[in-house]
Amino acid sequence: MSVIGKEEGIEHGSMRGYRQHIYRKVPATEECGCLQALREENARKSAARQAGRAPKRAARQQWNGSRLRGASRPEADTAIRADCPTAGCGQEAVGRFPKQRAWVRIHVTGSAEPARDYCSGSCATYGIALAELRMDNVA
Ligand SMILES: [Zn+2]
Ligand SMILES: [Zn+2]
Repeated sequence: MSVIGKEEGIEHGSMRGYRQHIYRKVPATEECGCLQALREENARKSAARQAGRAPKRAARQQWNGSRLRGASRPEADTAIRADCPTAGCGQEAVGRFPKQRAWVRIHVTGSAEPARDYCSGSCATYGIALAELRMDNVA
C-alpha cells in the first residue's frame, strides 16, 4: 500500500518528517514544523562547515599578516643594502628560490637574520657578514 499523498504518520517538526513529506509528495508547511526543522538542519550544517574552515582561514590570515609585517620594515632592509642600489637586494627571501637569475640566497644557520636574497656574490658576502653578526645565542 502506497503512502504517496498521505499525511498521516509523518513525523512533523523533524528532518525525518521533512523527508517523509518529500517522499510522500505532501508539501511541508510552516504550520507542521517541517520547514522549520529543515532550516535548523541547514543552519547546523553550515555552522559546522564554518567551524571546520575557520581554523585554516585564521592560520592563513596570520601567515599573510606576518608577511605584511615583514614587508613593512623598510628601515631594516635599507640598512642592509645601503651600499647596493639594486631594488630588492638584501630583502627577506620569499618563495623557494631567488626571483632573478644570478641572485644569491643567504641564510646563516643559527643567525637571527632570516634568509635574504642578494643581487650578486659581493652583496651576498655582505649578507653573510651581517648574518654572522646577528647570531642568536640559543644554540
Ligand atoms: Zn510536516
Ligand atoms: Zn646587491
